[in-house]
Amino acid sequence: MEVLHGGYSTCPDRGGGIGGLGLAAALGQQGVDVEIAERRTEYKLLGVGINQPANSLRILGRLGLLEQIRSVGFAYDRNEFHGAVRKTLI
Ligand SMILES: Cc1cc2nc3c(=O)[nH]c(=O)nc-3n(C[C@H](O)[C@H](O)[C@H](O)COP(=O)(O)OP(=O)(O)OC[C@H]3O[C@@H](n4cnc5c(N)ncnc54)[C@H](O)[C@@H]3O)c2cc1C
Repeated sequence: MEVLHGGYSTCPDRGGGIGGLGLAAALGQQGVDVEIAERRTEYKLLGVGINQPANSLRILGRLGLLEQIRSVGFAYDRNEFHGAVRKTLI
């Protein structure tokens, strides 16, 4: 990725995933206009839950997105990992 030095006001960004959108949001906070190029013509939802650990939520919070995320999710305080025959591993 090209390193941005002072004086740049626009930036191309490749990919509309969380990485590309996160970069665009962070650059936008610094006053940089970002143009995102996404090769897919539509988003395909997988229908799975999304787990976001604390380190991820901290960054999303810095991007000003934490309250919006919390409004559609819930907190939990433990994980369980199961084997193929549902035996609890951890
Ligand atoms: C089934 C499943 C469940 C998951 N569950 C979780 C979870 O619960 N929690 C979690 O944190 N992570 C989860 N992940 C992982 C998470 O989805 C990825 O780590 C994350 O999406 C990676 O984001 P990214 O922006 O780097 O890449 P991507 O999401 O892959 O985005 C890259 C984008 O760039 C586009 N692109 C690529 N090349 C080009 C190009 N040349 N020009 C234009 N566009 C381009 C692609 O089309 C794509 O939309 C899961 C993954 C899967 C598959």
